[in-house]
Amino acid sequence: MLSVAVIGAGAAGCFAAANIRGARVDVYEAGAKPMAKLAITGGGRCNITNSFEHLRSVDEAYPRGARLMKRALKEFSPQATLRWFTEAGVRGFVTEPDGCVFPASQDAMEIVRTLSRKMVSGGVELHCGKKAETLTKADGAWLIGFADGSSARADAVLLTAGGAPRGLPLLGGLDIPWVQCVPSLFTFTVNDPALRSLMGLVVNASLAIPGTSFRSHGQLLITDWGLSGPAVLKLSSYAARYLHDNGYNASLSINWAALPQAEVEAELNAFLSENRQKLLSSSAPLGLPLRLWQYIISLAGLREDIRRGELGSKGFARLVAMLTGCPAHIDGRSHFRDEFVTCGGVDLAAIDPSTMQCRSHPGLFFAGEVLDIDAITGGFNLQAAWSTAWLASRAIMNIQ
Ligand SMILES: Cc1cc2nc3c(=O)[nH]c(=O)nc-3n(C[C@H](O)[C@H](O)[C@H](O)COP(=O)(O)OP(=O)(O)OC[C@H]3O[C@@H](n4cnc5c(N)ncnc54)[C@H](O)[C@@H]3O)c2cc1C
Repeated sequence: MLSVAVIGAGAAGCFAAANIRGARVDVYEAGAKPMAKLAITGGGRCNITNSFEHLRSVDEAYPRGARLMKRALKEFSPQATLRWFTEAGVRGFVTEPDGCVFPASQDAMEIVRTLSRKMVSGGVELHCGKKAETLTKADGAWLIGFADGSSARADAVLLTAGGAPRGLPLLGGLDIPWVQCVPSLFTFTVNDPALRSLMGLVVNASLAIPGTSFRSHGQLLITDWGLSGPAVLKLSSYAARYLHDNGYNASLSINWAALPQAEVEAELNAFLSENRQKLLSSSAPLGLPLRLWQYIISLAGLREDIRRGELGSKGFARLVAMLTGCPAHIDGRSHFRDEFVTCGGVDLAAIDPSTMQCRSHPGLFFAGEVLDIDAITGGFNLQAAWSTAWLASRAIMNIQ
């Protein structure tokens, strides 16, 4: 009987192990228990996948690995994921308006327990406290050396060790191309006391890094350290490598209205032409919070006591510029506590995208975050783990 060693009992490793039939499957986990990260996903609720209906294309969700994911999603889609977990006993799912899908129980442990049950019923052997340190091929079989001095042999190895910010020493001797890991999904530190004084405000905004094609839009939250919210997380993901290479020091342009300039001009004109005697700063146009509007007026260099009817063409142009392209500066990054992934990992050029098998080492497969695939928040990272693990498990079962 084929023997399979799965290294890493996370989402990808356990899902693959639960799907492999007709083989002896041993899962080796460095930690004390399996799926420790899966248990805390989505703030303990597990954002298991996404409906994908708010995306224009898969590229929008996967800044790295979109090509492979388009293929993998055809083989194992979000619907297939929900079907699989439903058949395995999960009692329903809820899809939130933004497309994020959670188990109806709102409990990540239901997903962990379901995978554990499926592994047990499939006869999978789980070995915790087994940190794989070496991987070599000898006499047609794979030999795995563990930190405790023990070793194991297997006909096929599936490596699902997750994101490895400092690389994977385990792969050292195999000469597999590796893309340097850098963080993704972080918030921006902004050392501007005036902006930070607006702490707590939430607006729908568009962000851009001038001089690049990196853009995002969505909710923007002003915090006591700078900027956060979905628009920032998305931009941090799209620009992860660029920001890393620039020491997390970059210009930022904020469109506070998330509207094209012509629409902002039209709405501002309409606002100015009614109640021309009113102070400009006493109420805000475009549905902006009043504190933010007053901040924009001061950035535009306008007097606090200026009336709507007194604003000349230069003042109007300065206001529009601050509304649609307000300059800010990213001075550093901070972690987003709820979801953190690395971008980088095993170079996808080294992988056969239909099997997840390493092109240069037959019998060695990869799935999950160890690959150079990562996504914006919203359940897309776990979907990558499910889809790639599914492909790997199918291919492993086809080994003669
Ligand atoms: C706090 C948090 C919340 C998140 N929430 C969500 C969410 O709601 N939705 C979503 O889509 N994504 C979420 N993510 C991302 C998601 O958790 C990951 O993309 C996903 O867990 C990747 O699965 P994986 O199996 O590839 O890696 P992991 O889940 O990281 O599993 C890898 C496993 O391998 C083990 N391992 C590592 N090295 C070795 C070794 N040498 N030998 C043996 N074992 C080893 C590790 O201990 C670990 O158990 C979140 C991430 C974090 C940190």
